[in-house]
Amino acid sequence: MGKLAELTFNEMTVEGYERVVEVINEEAGLHAIIALHNTTLGPAVGGIRVYPYATFDDALNDVLRLSKGMTYKAAVAETGTGGGKSVIICDYKKPKSEELLIAFAEAVNYFEGQYICAEDFGMHVDDLEVIRKGTHFAVGLPHPQSSGDPSRFTAFGGFLGVKSVAKKLWGVDNMKGRTVAIQGLGSVGMRLADQLFWEGANLIVTDIDPDAVAHAVREYAATAVAPDEIYGVECDIFSPCALGGIINPDTIPTLRCKGIAGLANNQLLTEADGQALMDRGILYAPDYVINSGGLFNVCTELCKEGYCPSESRNHVARIFDLLLTIFTLSEEKKLPTNIVANELADYNLEKGIGKREEKLVFHH
Ligand code: NAD
Repeated sequence: MGKLAELTFNEMTVEGYERVVEVINEEAGLHAIIALHNTTLGPAVGGIRVYPYATFDDALNDVLRLSKGMTYKAAVAETGTGGGKSVIICDYKKPKSEELLIAFAEAVNYFEGQYICAEDFGMHVDDLEVIRKGTHFAVGLPHPQSSGDPSRFTAFGGFLGVKSVAKKLWGVDNMKGRTVAIQGLGSVGMRLADQLFWEGANLIVTDIDPDAVAHAVREYAATAVAPDEIYGVECDIFSPCALGGIINPDTIPTLRCKGIAGLANNQLLTEADGQALMDRGILYAPDYVINSGGLFNVCTELCKEGYCPSESRNHVARIFDLLLTIFTLSEEKKLPTNIVANELADYNLEKGIGKREEKLVFHH
């Protein structure tokens, strides 16, 4: 146990992780865990998730799973960053005190730049602004030098991902006349719907928010279905853009699509579901590859020249070819695409491909 200011740090040993640290400040009501999974390719960039976990072990399991996921996403996207994540155990619906946010900022400083925090579920950008008062190591802030909302880059990557699946399946990447079923019309799903509409695709949509559905029906002539009906609709491509774990032994037999290309995180309930999709002849664009555009965009904020949206866009455009490479390797090796993506990430980590050579610059 070590102490910095009034924070208590409990360094935990977890196999396969560089550092996992529980941070407590009772006065500020802070109870957090910061996990650095792997910083081989650069300092870890990962969001702060705020959630009222029922137990400490639930929080620990989540931060371990999420930080490892960030390592893989950063490695395939070649962002020059590593994998890390943090969780704050508290009710995200309640306003967070300045003391809690500043105490968390001090916890981030404890890692001396090896962990750079960003937004995630329950952590609003206004909260991040307060955290920024206590640490340089924060990205995705609302100021002119920042990369801003990552959703438009995530959605652009998703659009190219859909086209990449089309190219592999039908030999043409144009979506004109093809049908895409979108689950979730939030920041990324609605943007994806917009791009697909303008390319001439037919849309089937669902969301638990009736206003979002009404918007897509009105603006994009989409056909609306109930949330639990989306899996069984006949379509060319199914695009999950809401929830994790929705591709599982219950839903896979009901799918009537040829490919899956969506932006939600952790779409497969388990890695074995990738094999089940392959057995059914459904081409799956691995989630952390197709949705890496937002992470890449936020990381470009840290380069010497400062944030440049066109640079970021041009790099995100690589998702199209990256997915085609994964599909080809999957065919050659007779392995599911999610496993091929993991192998590609492991290869980049082993060979140091995409490793950040220049020092990070914080333009704020
Ligand atoms: P969001 O909260 O803006 O949108 C999510 C949408 O899904 C909402 O409209 C919500 O009503 C809908 N939804 C929730 N439950 C649903 C259900 N059961 N059926 C249908 N719709 C449902 O979130 P977002 O930023 O658009 O992110 C969507 C997904 O993409 C998440 O899994 C997120 O982790 C992932 N993702 C987002 C980004 C990004 O840049 N925003 C980057 C990478 C991954």
